[in-house]
Amino acid sequence: MKDSIHVSKENYLKAILEAEAEGRQVIPATLAHWLEVSAPAVTMALKRLRRDGLVEMGADGIVRLTAAGRETAYRTALRHHLIERMLSELFGMEWYQVHEEAERLEHAVSPAFEAKLLERLGNTGTCPHGNAVLPETPAERKKRGEIPLSEAAAGGRYTVVSLHERDPRLLLFLHSSGIDPNNTLRVLSQNYDQTVSIELPAGTSILGRPAAEAVWLRPASQA
Ligand SMILES: [Zn+2]
Repeated sequence: MKDSIHVSKENYLKAILEAEAEGRQVIPATLAHWLEVSAPAVTMALKRLRRDGLVEMGADGIVRLTAAGRETAYRTALRHHLIERMLSELFGMEWYQVHEEAERLEHAVSPAFEAKLLERLGNTGTCPHGNAVLPETPAERKKRGEIPLSEAAAGGRYTVVSLHERDPRLLLFLHSSGIDPNNTLRVLSQNYDQTVSIELPAGTSILGRPAAEAVWLRPASQA
């Protein structure tokens, strides 16, 4: 569990924004789980965020961003995205290392630096994990013809389009399993125990459901 001091106001707001973008309703327990902090720490943080007019909590216990909270959250998400792209595109840092680095640096970006990053990188590209500034819903991704590895048909060849990046341990796990953005893989079988067997350039691998759900694919063009 992380020291609650290191989980800033911006981290809470960004987590709520991400959850909303994924179509989830946020309750305090969701935040405790996502941010790896204790329930009392979440209670205290939410109290401060409500006092500052950044979140609202209804009688239903659901946490929602106010307009001001949404603005701050979006700003943090944009800075996170720009820092990841800066580290990867300008400094050649590996994709599985940039998320944690960006988590630290995003809070230190001044408006002037943000403007310079936008000028250099633009705001329409994807980060090294294949994601836009805000996470998209599964429905939006599927409309573009993408499919999560957990639902991909056996026998099919696919290209890895994007990875859910909230959990740095998951990114390291995927990398060590041979799954990198833009890699091509073949689905060997969807197994009875909800794992999926895949073939990668480096060999075969078996992934459990939580990991397979975080990997988005598009059918590979026929060779
Ligand atoms: Zn990213």
